[in-house]
Amino acid sequence: MLLAAPRGYCAGVDRAVVAVEQALEHYGAPVYVRKEIVHNRHVVDTLAARGAVFVEETDEVPEGARVVFSAHGVSPAVRAAAQARDLRTIDATCPLVTKVHKEAVRFARADLDVLLIGHPGHEEVEGTQGEAPDHVQVVASPDAVADVVVRDESKVVWISQTTLSVDETMETVRRLRERFPLLQDPPSDDICYATQNRQVAVKKLAPDCDVVITVGSANSSNSVRLVEVALEAGARASYRVDAASQVDPAWLVGARTVGVTSGASVPEVLVDEVLALLAAHGFGDVEEVRTATEDLMFSLPRELRADLRAAGGDDPRPRPEGRREIPVAPA
Ligand code: SF4
Repeated sequence: MLLAAPRGYCAGVDRAVVAVEQALEHYGAPVYVRKEIVHNRHVVDTLAARGAVFVEETDEVPEGARVVFSAHGVSPAVRAAAQARDLRTIDATCPLVTKVHKEAVRFARADLDVLLIGHPGHEEVEGTQGEAPDHVQVVASPDAVADVVVRDESKVVWISQTTLSVDETMETVRRLRERFPLLQDPPSDDICYATQNRQVAVKKLAPDCDVVITVGSANSSNSVRLVEVALEAGARASYRVDAASQVDPAWLVGARTVGVTSGASVPEVLVDEVLALLAAHGFGDVEEVRTATEDLMFSLPRELRADLRAAGGDDPRPRPEGRREIPVAPA
């Protein structure tokens, strides 16, 4: 059995989940959360059991109450709606999503047409597009490039959702550049380090696997990409499960090597349960396939940390030697 590393929680998910946990502990329940804090059913259910109340929009939050914005980010319209209801907000937007928001704003101010490669309807894409809806259009796939219409072909730039397939995104960019040779690039990768690292690891183990199992929820973009990447990289079969109970023993019949990975919003306990199930089916010999080491940690949202400190507390997360904590600038 081959186990991908890195896998599971990224720095942005860790920060967002701990932010809700700490808000519950510090302010007491209920703490409202707009949308799923991260795209994982187990995480959402666990926080809900502790008193988090998940809502779709801020108008479901009582006036003056406290609301956490999810790791996927929000548009300025959502911030304004929260302000209009006098909500006390804790912004758990991943800093790497905020970075893409800032790019969208900067390019729109320069009056460029901004081509946002991403999945229409995904919360992150809605948030980023909402920064400059008059300038940003979403490009869903390489095939969608044919439908792109811009005002001035010499003033076009691309940016992307953080959790896409690296290879498919590069194909979309290649086709965009074919159509718009003066297409500008963003200053650095928008697909985040965690998404890229998990794809590299699964690409390395997939060719040796009869079956690759990705632990992650159906609405988790980076998890669904891992399923596709495993298949493209040579796995004979590739499946996604929310939990061990969804592993079909029929998948394992005749398999000699099984690979396992997990998306960036998946707690390790869910992977452990899949490993235990695989062990019970004769795949108990685990070899880790590591392609990178991650040591990143993002500071808790400023407003929460200030309240924790004022009460004599602080961010409770351990900081092993060598772990890099990145302070987060306001969105
Ligand atoms: S997957 Fe990437 S962008 Fe999304 S929360 Fe994690 S680090 Fe941030």
